[in-house]
Amino acid sequence: MGYVAKNNDIVITDLIEAGTNAERYENAFIPDQEYQLEEFSKIYFDSNRTKNYLGDWHTHPNHTANLSLKDKRTLTLIANSPDSQNSQPLMIILSGLTKDWTLNAFQFDSGRIYLRSFFTCKYKQLPYVVF
Ligand SMILES: [Zn+2]
Repeated sequence: MGYVAKNNDIVITDLIEAGTNAERYENAFIPDQEYQLEEFSKIYFDSNRTKNYLGDWHTHPNHTANLSLKDKRTLTLIANSPDSQNSQPLMIILSGLTKDWTLNAFQFDSGRIYLRSFFTCKYKQLPYVVF
């Protein structure tokens, strides 16, 4: 959650966790959507609608911080979903592959889902600063 500043910087102000009913598997993750929507509403309305959904984040504990095919498909689905109200969502991935965790931030540029497993996804990797 966050906002786009006047200089077009994307400012992340809040992170919403997976929720107690989230399902975590070695190669998959299903968020507790009810919890996340509740948290989203709190942040959105408490900020007088200035903080919005920017995108998703997750970890790759044993892989690089690059987008997997599944990540690209998910990013494309989010971008093309009217519910997200964000046509250029972010996907941030933290990798625990090395001794120190690393982070990559990506922003959807263009693409669409054609059939269940066919899609196009263009994205850009963003530079970032952590405060
Ligand atoms: Zn991933």
